[in-house]
Amino acid sequence: MMATSLHDTHGRRFEYLRLSVTDVCNFRCQYCLPNGYQKPAKAVPPLRPDEIGRAVTAFARLGLWKVRLTGGEPGTRTDLPEIARAVAGVPGVRRLAITTNGWKLAERAQAWRDAGISAINISVDSLDPARFAAITGHDRLGEVLAGVAAARTAGFDTIKLNAVLMRGVNDDELPAMIDFVAAHDLSLRFIEVMRTGSNPDHFARHHLPASAVISQLEARGWQRLPRQMGAGPAIEYGHASARGRIGIIAPYSRDFCASCNRLRLSADGRLHLCLFGDGGIALRPWLQRDEDHDALVARIIAATATKAPAHRLHAGNSGATPHLASIGG
Ligand code: SAM
Ligand code: SF4
Repeated sequence: MMATSLHDTHGRRFEYLRLSVTDVCNFRCQYCLPNGYQKPAKAVPPLRPDEIGRAVTAFARLGLWKVRLTGGEPGTRTDLPEIARAVAGVPGVRRLAITTNGWKLAERAQAWRDAGISAINISVDSLDPARFAAITGHDRLGEVLAGVAAARTAGFDTIKLNAVLMRGVNDDELPAMIDFVAAHDLSLRFIEVMRTGSNPDHFARHHLPASAVISQLEARGWQRLPRQMGAGPAIEYGHASARGRIGIIAPYSRDFCASCNRLRLSADGRLHLCLFGDGGIALRPWLQRDEDHDALVARIIAATATKAPAHRLHAGNSGATPHLASIGG
């Protein structure tokens, strides 16, 4: 079977795989796992590094060249460096990134970088220690910021902070966050809080539209950057005196889904065509032997063709996703 690129019937080309390596998380973010991780009665072990290597080999054959390790908290996997090496070594993978809550990052940043991870997103929803503790259930802002510093020392190509902005929780910190990243030469992603199966009340109380961020950025002299070819759905801003960029993930904005270039693999090996889709398509049976590679590639091609044009969030339908920790936000 020839290598090819992966398209759906709506003309979208897939280049980016978000790979959840675990459902488990040690934090209790208000909008995600407010009661902490609950082990299901029939917990399925997450994919092993060899299974992950086979999956990524198939996606890379189909032209996906960027992989992000996420979760749950990927840092809860003690074999994370082994996973990273398995992914980084796949021919065709040009960029390996991770999204982490920053737990123990100061101790681990160098090992992750040495294992081939070159881009890191660290979630920091508040720069106020008490508020950070209230949002995440952990009084660890100092530790996480020490992790950000360690990531700089370790030589990651890209370091971004992720902040979920919530009305009445941390929206008053927007100017301080913008100034912080500009002063520290970091980039920042503001993420509009998304409604999932388990957070409708939190969403109703705290959802803040991206337009609130955009007006603050423009008032501080940040300018919208032209969209790059093949860029994902983030809206990017730059400032003449800041090296970093500020991106906005606005899933409720018009056309958000039109530029979707990503697929997701859950920790138990299910292909998810959309963060807010249904169920997922099991790939694990095809991840056990190298000999199943062609059948795996064919299954991915067939499944991807069925991707829906857009999510149904505006109709209040967040699909089968209980929270983003379950399939890697
Ligand atoms: N545990 C890691 C972390 O928090 O960075 C990685 C997994 S987490 C699901 C990935 C990203 O999704 C984080 O930046 C988190 O803040 C974001 N997230 C989780 N639930 C969300 C929601 N309901 N709406 C918007 N962003 C969410
Ligand atoms: Fe854990 Fe990340 Fe969800 Fe927070 S957002 S509870 S750190 S998976």
